[in-house]
Amino acid sequence: MTEPRKAIVAGAGIGGLTAAIALQRAGWQVKVFEAAPTLRTSGSGLSVMANAMAALHSIDAHVPVEQAGQVIQQFFFKKHNGDPITSMPIHAIGEQLGHPNINIQRPLLLRALARQLTPDTLTTGLRCVGYAHRPDGVEVSFEDGSTHQADLLIGADGLNSVIRQQMLGETPTRPSGYIAWLALTPLSHPVMTEGYVAHYWGRGKRFGLCDVGDGQAYWWGTCNHDNAAQAALSISKQEVLGAYAGWAPEVIAAIEATPESAILKMHARDREPVEQFCEGHVVLLGDAAHPMLPSLGQGAAQAIEDAVVLAEHLARIPDLRSALAQYQARRHPRVNGIVNAARFMSGIEQAESRLLCWLREWYFRLTPQSSFRKKNVDILSFKPIA
Ligand SMILES: Cc1cc2nc3c(=O)[nH]c(=O)nc-3n(C[C@H](O)[C@H](O)[C@H](O)COP(=O)(O)OP(=O)(O)OC[C@H]3O[C@@H](n4cnc5c(N)ncnc54)[C@H](O)[C@@H]3O)c2cc1C
Repeated sequence: MTEPRKAIVAGAGIGGLTAAIALQRAGWQVKVFEAAPTLRTSGSGLSVMANAMAALHSIDAHVPVEQAGQVIQQFFFKKHNGDPITSMPIHAIGEQLGHPNINIQRPLLLRALARQLTPDTLTTGLRCVGYAHRPDGVEVSFEDGSTHQADLLIGADGLNSVIRQQMLGETPTRPSGYIAWLALTPLSHPVMTEGYVAHYWGRGKRFGLCDVGDGQAYWWGTCNHDNAAQAALSISKQEVLGAYAGWAPEVIAAIEATPESAILKMHARDREPVEQFCEGHVVLLGDAAHPMLPSLGQGAAQAIEDAVVLAEHLARIPDLRSALAQYQARRHPRVNGIVNAARFMSGIEQAESRLLCWLREWYFRLTPQSSFRKKNVDILSFKPIA
């Protein structure tokens, strides 16, 4: 009997955990190393869109995720004061594609993935610091001085990936020009019906309110800032309330219901797209490969797609380097297109000028539902290798 192939995954985020599940199900021996002392237990919510659910379905990993999340039923765009602009047929698209779009608390998503791993897969509190190529594999180094050998190293270590840094050198992050607040809070409000999502648009500011189930709401707010990196360093609930004064009552209610300690603040960033995701027996996925601005809600979804497509190629193509090259060729057109689309969309959403905001509103008001549907179907479809 041949020995199972061995993979090391750096990073137990959404992409790393999905890759580990997919490879274990394909017969690989997998170890996941996470720098943080535990899986992320704090954090807000996120959407796991139909394409990600389809990818999880293809490795039979979707049920625990679906059970921990809330299917999106309505998706509205509103003016800052709550007046309607339009709605997006997200639920109908999910039905058409056969997979739901869900909102979920991030810690619940990580747990739903982690519990599908075989016991003893995950080591926490151990940071990967680099790798060395070997003739038939890779040697991975950790901050405690230990090394591990494997056939494959997967760099799933997020936006500030050390694996990416070693593979590609300096590839600076690009500022978004806005700060983002994120939070999860219990919320009961008449507009918050089951599966509610609404994006409220102001000038240079937005607010998102999402039902994640169990009486919890996930909200985020964005606000243009000349020095967003510096501004993201301090958090104050008063500042958030000030930024959204005069907005819809449910926006104010969500902020007021949130303890200051539950509010995260960050400076959203992406990186210029690249076409290289692999080198020797080392491969990148998720934010390590292609961090994107959150405008399309696709960062986690693309990390999940990467993980599943990588495992598919490794299962079908015996030569590891060829499998990685084909993974890279297949993934970079899709993910880089989404990185660019998210940045373009972010510019429209964060518009400040009165005229641009007015044009934006009327463009969305006049766009027929069939057109929204057509534009979204491609991005929300996941196609396994035929
Ligand atoms: C404001 C905001 C809102 C978002 N909303 C959505 C959304 O609604 N839907 C969506 O699909 N996406 C969303 N995203 C994007 C999404 O969160 C990311 O794209 C996704 O988490 C990427 O997953 P990942 O596994 O690649 O990286 P991460 O989730 O960042 O995981 C990386 C892991 O690696 C660990 N790590 C780091 N360095 C090392 C190391 N050297 N050794 C070992 N471990 C290491 C980290 O601790 C972390 O656990 C949002 C992002 C932002 C900023």
